[in-house]
Amino acid sequence: MRQKFVVGNWKMHTTAAVAGRLTQAIADGLGSDTRVRVVLCPPFPYLALVGERLKGSRVALGAQNLYPAADGPFTGEVSPTMLLDLGCQYVILGHSERRHTLGETDAFIDQKVRAALAVGLDVILCVGETRDQRNANQTEAVLDRQLGQGLAGVTAGTLARLSIAYEPVWAIGNLSHHATPQQAQDAHAGIRRRFGLLFGEPAAQALVISYGGSVEPEDAAALLSRPGVDGALVGGASLHADPFLAIVRAAS
Ligand code: 13P
Repeated sequence: MRQKFVVGNWKMHTTAAVAGRLTQAIADGLGSDTRVRVVLCPPFPYLALVGERLKGSRVALGAQNLYPAADGPFTGEVSPTMLLDLGCQYVILGHSERRHTLGETDAFIDQKVRAALAVGLDVILCVGETRDQRNANQTEAVLDRQLGQGLAGVTAGTLARLSIAYEPVWAIGNLSHHATPQQAQDAHAGIRRRFGLLFGEPAAQALVISYGGSVEPEDAAALLSRPGVDGALVGGASLHADPFLAIVRAAS
């Protein structure tokens, strides 16, 4: 049985005051319920503050990115060990906003995945096709490429610290065009198949695959009850405690 997984990706939102209040409300709202694994990923400047508020709670801390080097002359970047230092257990890598807005390549994402796993961080690797790619029937090929290259540095010993988030680019921040439960289920099945070819069937069955793209409380239960849809990577709806907590409840 794969434990359900719900991650809040705050992207470049909140202020220190909002981040503190939001974290407190989510931690209080979840109480001691441990059925769902919950992670909050605030912007870098608020990691320490959110981590402090999460102490003693059952919510884990995650970052939205890292730079794949131990330290050095990389102005403006943040290393994997700095994230560990701040109490992060997770890091989101390969998000479509980084791929498409900031030009990250599969090769660069591969370096980041290696660097994160090497220091003991848990990786949430995002994959997903654009609208044009889906319309051109390239979804499977795109996901295969992103998985094959993004996971090139993953070894058997680190598989347990890896999960995949399927985030179709056309469904992100786009409430009128979110994926249907069937579309999510089909894509997740394809990802699991591909993962099985890369790492074997037992690893594929153990792999947690989350869906991201306009997840809201209203549709979360329908998505999360589909076979193979093990979690949700939540953007907009994670910026307020009530909808985020409702999504966690829907996953329970
Ligand atoms: P939205 O939930 O705002 O569509 O964002 C999804 C996402 O990109 C999470 O990483």
